Amino acid sequence: MECIKGVIDSMVYDQLTIELHEFRIRILGRRECFWQYHLEQENYYYDIQAPSLEIDGQLVTVELDQIRAVGSPVNLSNGAKEYTFSGTFVADPQMSLQMVFRLHQDEPIIRFRYVLHSQGAHRMTKVSGEDAILYFATSLSKGQRIKEVQLSGFNEWVHSFSPFERPYDKREFTHEVHVMGPILAIEDDDHQFLLAYEHGSQVPDAFLAFNLSQNGTVRLQGVKGNYVTGQPLSSGFATVWMQTGAVRGTEASLAHAYRQFVLKHMAIQVESRQPYIFYNTWAFQERNKHWNHKPYLESMVQERILREIEVAHRMGVEVFVMDTGWYEKTGDWQVSLARFPDSLKCVKEALDTYGMKLGLWLGPTSVAISSELYDRYRDCAMSWHGKVRSPRAVWETEESQDMCLVSDYADALVERMITLSQTLGVKYFKWDAIGQYGCDSPLHQHGGDQHSQKERVDSYAFQIGLVLTKIVEKVTQQCPDVIVDFDVTEGQRAFGLAFLSVGKYFLINNGPYYHNYDLPVGLNDGNWNIFFYPGQARGWVCRYPLAFDRWIPSVLFLTHYLPDDPEESQWMNLASLMLGQNGIWGDLLSVSVDGVRRFGETLGKYKQIRADITEASPVRLGDVGGSPEIHEKISPMTRKGIVAIFSPVAGRYTYVTRSAVEPNYWHTEGVHITLDAESHARIDVHFDAPGAHIVMFGVS
Ligand SMILES: [Zn+2]
Repeated sequence: MECIKGVIDSMVYDQLTIELHEFRIRILGRRECFWQYHLEQENYYYDIQAPSLEIDGQLVTVELDQIRAVGSPVNLSNGAKEYTFSGTFVADPQMSLQMVFRLHQDEPIIRFRYVLHSQGAHRMTKVSGEDAILYFATSLSKGQRIKEVQLSGFNEWVHSFSPFERPYDKREFTHEVHVMGPILAIEDDDHQFLLAYEHGSQVPDAFLAFNLSQNGTVRLQGVKGNYVTGQPLSSGFATVWMQTGAVRGTEASLAHAYRQFVLKHMAIQVESRQPYIFYNTWAFQERNKHWNHKPYLESMVQERILREIEVAHRMGVEVFVMDTGWYEKTGDWQVSLARFPDSLKCVKEALDTYGMKLGLWLGPTSVAISSELYDRYRDCAMSWHGKVRSPRAVWETEESQDMCLVSDYADALVERMITLSQTLGVKYFKWDAIGQYGCDSPLHQHGGDQHSQKERVDSYAFQIGLVLTKIVEKVTQQCPDVIVDFDVTEGQRAFGLAFLSVGKYFLINNGPYYHNYDLPVGLNDGNWNIFFYPGQARGWVCRYPLAFDRWIPSVLFLTHYLPDDPEESQWMNLASLMLGQNGIWGDLLSVSVDGVRRFGETLGKYKQIRADITEASPVRLGDVGGSPEIHEKISPMTRKGIVAIFSPVAGRYTYVTRSAVEPNYWHTEGVHITLDAESHARIDVHFDAPGAHIVMFGVS
């Protein structure tokens, strides 16, 4: 695998070139070549053409004059550097554009964005009624094969976002095809290059899209909501972040390079990329409701939480997440003193004793009617067709109002989260129930009375994912070790690359509901969840989206597995969660002593090699639920990692690892290992019954 490594050994920044060891970026500011990405050793390059947008009724393609580097490169805390260039429009010296690049010396993939500014009264317009903005274009005359990597299709079979790789034929260009992406992987003989944008919405509800046109040009265009009619340029217009980069090699080389970029250098704060073991209280809260006919919040009390912490510690949990119910009321987010009389003091002490982090559930759009925050931000309530939404009780707590985050209220949320982190020591927030659509009020920052209702709706929906990203950026600037997890367990959420630049996703609750499978809801206990019980089936649902791991590391898709007995179910859940989703969905106090020890010992071994597993690109063999289903996650550099083998039937299988392995290994019973001369492992497994086998290489 040969990735092009960029090493900044000399930099001619002021001459409009970012010079790297194997590639360089040249800034030209011209219409056909706004800037160029060039692999020097290869003499391989592509031009990024200029953006264009409609200003005061005229479509303007940006051409720049007087381009200069702005300041010195800025060192970012992930080791990347930020470079900024600025130029004035040839057509109008009152207008300027900044190009901002973020790149790391070890990465071929870079991020870039533009910021437009006007000193005069110029405005962005939509003469046709549609968005008129082209972010960039590039010629694919050399590109032979194009593949779209879709991330945000919602697959109701597993009730989860799942990736989809779709190849395009050049013939399809003649049909002016629109492709949502957000990633295009383009094969060009022995090179590969990538184009992507950071936004989020469910397929096919595109806000930006690539247009593949007949002359072999690919254009990234705004589709809807990218700006509002008459938006003044005097306050600046910043584009979404975009991504590009090239490697020599196969598509697998590109996927690997992209995966490394997402893991290490896409986010400025990298805490969200750490493979901690997470526990969340919700599974028992839901069981207690449906099985024991108790309120959801009955178990959210100090005495039980302290007992759960004891078990969680013995199982190897590192982030203990209290789901809904820890608070008195939404908005103010004060601890419920009825449930936790010392305001979580002894909970925090218990967690500190074991070196565990505190995580809390938060509904960012919910603000209780009697809260101090609602008093201050009444104008920021979500409304629809002129009516403020009716308040609703949030999980058995006081009635709350839905608040618009594309408003001044967003900064109040930032402040509350920082306070919670600083006063209670919260290191993880689970953000729940944030839909793509929600508000058409003319009083906020997504259009006013002069805009149509549709324009305000689209502007809100375009901005919501970017606002969420901005909120996390502000929180983590103050509290860099805080992780924010965005719940995308239902469709119509702003799922895409934008949020991954600051946080991670909470991917699956219990997967599909009865109604997804055309079954009458709640056949016996009134519960709408099917995949709520121990056994093989929930694992199939949860492992299905591991297909993301080819491009986006699985550590960014928190998914919880059940720790319940019996032993076979525990091995299957351990084998699954160690592939990177890393969550335990517990009813911890019901797990047997042996089961708790099994989790603790196995996760103890996992922790020795989890950095290697997280780094490793996945190798998969067999369908999820098939016989067998094999996952290999071994780092070719360290030869450490895991092989998990699942089977739905009794029988024997043999697998030879793709990667060489370390000679010290651990495995479940019923496995035989032989190493060949090149240190690849032949794994013979025997299943007495449906279940899973685990082999970990490089553990003591
Ligand atoms: Zn609003």
